[in-house]
Amino acid sequence: MKAISPTTNELIKDYEEHSENEARDIIGDVHEEFLKWRESTFAHRSNLMNRAASVLRDNIDSYASIMTQEMGKIIPESRAEVEKCAWVCDYYAENAEKFLADEIVETDASRSFVSFEPIGIVLAVMPWNFPFWQVFRFAAPALMAGNAGVLKHASNVPGSALAIEQVFREAGFPENLFRTLLISSGKVEGVIRNPKIKAVTLTGSEPAGSSVASIAGSEIKKTVLELGGSDPYIVLGDADITACVKTSVTARMINQGQSCIAAKRFIVVESMLEQFEKDQTAIMESMKLGDPMDEETQVGPIARKDLLEELHEQVTKSIDKGAKLLTGGKRADRVGAFYLPTVLTNVKKGMPAYDEETFGPVSAIIPVKDEDEAVKVANDSDLGLGGSVWSKDIERGIRVARRIETGNVFVNGLTKSDPRLPFGGIKKSGYGRELSHYGIREFVNIKTIWVA
Ligand code: NAP
Repeated sequence: MKAISPTTNELIKDYEEHSENEARDIIGDVHEEFLKWRESTFAHRSNLMNRAASVLRDNIDSYASIMTQEMGKIIPESRAEVEKCAWVCDYYAENAEKFLADEIVETDASRSFVSFEPIGIVLAVMPWNFPFWQVFRFAAPALMAGNAGVLKHASNVPGSALAIEQVFREAGFPENLFRTLLISSGKVEGVIRNPKIKAVTLTGSEPAGSSVASIAGSEIKKTVLELGGSDPYIVLGDADITACVKTSVTARMINQGQSCIAAKRFIVVESMLEQFEKDQTAIMESMKLGDPMDEETQVGPIARKDLLEELHEQVTKSIDKGAKLLTGGKRADRVGAFYLPTVLTNVKKGMPAYDEETFGPVSAIIPVKDEDEAVKVANDSDLGLGGSVWSKDIERGIRVARRIETGNVFVNGLTKSDPRLPFGGIKKSGYGRELSHYGIREFVNIKTIWVA
């Protein structure tokens, strides 16, 4: 399993994969640990989870640089990601006991209540785009609930996968409570079918989600799927245009545009169109592209060369079908998987930039005549993860937010995940929720206890 730098195209390290037998043995060890861990107290788990947060904060630079080297995220964003992981650890350390406390329900019983109990090992199949965050937002609640975890990370970030395993060990968690399997996606089926695996959470693409959920379904194992997004960013006629344009660039360009909740379709009413196009293009053109380890860099490389090629094909096909290129539209003239910040306008149905998720620094502007058309276009997608609405009239913003078919909508702000708020999608963006009290209750046995 090779970690290759998208900045230099050079091999960082070749990792030996686990064989099927090794994977089975690891899962056996994790299961043994689970049998003890499920009996542990919340106080004990919280203590260790707070220590995991400290390990992350104490080693922020080294973890950040592993991510940046493996998948090209600019170094300040990598550091912010490590800090966010520490936050989610602290959040569940503080709140898990409250979220999973018995719920008394008045019935005909002398006493009846709901008890939330661990279910066993949860397999996490994770993507490369937020190599630490995606894992911690699953692992912190899972371990706090008394479950154990096995991670199959994306093949291009094996160093991150092993580093995360090490965080839990250094924090003092039992050695086998959370383990990384270095395996290719072809070996995931065998892992899902292992009777000791009780549930699967997958963050990634629609084909991967569909395949993993089908296999898990055939074994009657629960899944949570966090899949792609093509988030609408609606600019209404009364938006604060300066704030809205500035945020639109951050919303699109975070992580080089490789975020499931990046704004991808900018749905702009006609009265705002000209200024939005001009101002967004100017900011995109001003962004400094370069080595992601350099503190000044604003745009690093795409995580892999094949992904850059796919993105470029989506851009060229959209242009062939009538989209107008305002800037970018090609690779940067340097070594590595660099793509110029790109703005397309006049984007319409039938173009990849309208119909598909674009996973990179490409803005697709879709002109509309009014609020109703904006909502119609926003919902004209198979995906339903997040979105934003911009209007100076907050009540109007909320009214429009309610009409958008996604798992979250932000009014006058950047769509982001937050440990305190549930996160997830509808339609082909997946099902189930992570984070908040909803997330920790996905992988527990919600058990009724009734006393005569
Ligand atoms: P991906 O190709 O689907 O890979 C995700 C994970 O699934 C990797 O570990 C991959 O392993 C594995 N995988 C791929 N195909 C599989 C299969 N048939 N069976 C079992 N496992 C399989 O996705 P990606 O390119 O890494 O990530 C980008 C996608 O993730 C985007 O669509 C993005 O929107 C989505 N995403 C969603 C969220 C969310 O919260 N909703 C968050 C982040 C990203 P290999 O690397 O070994 O192939």
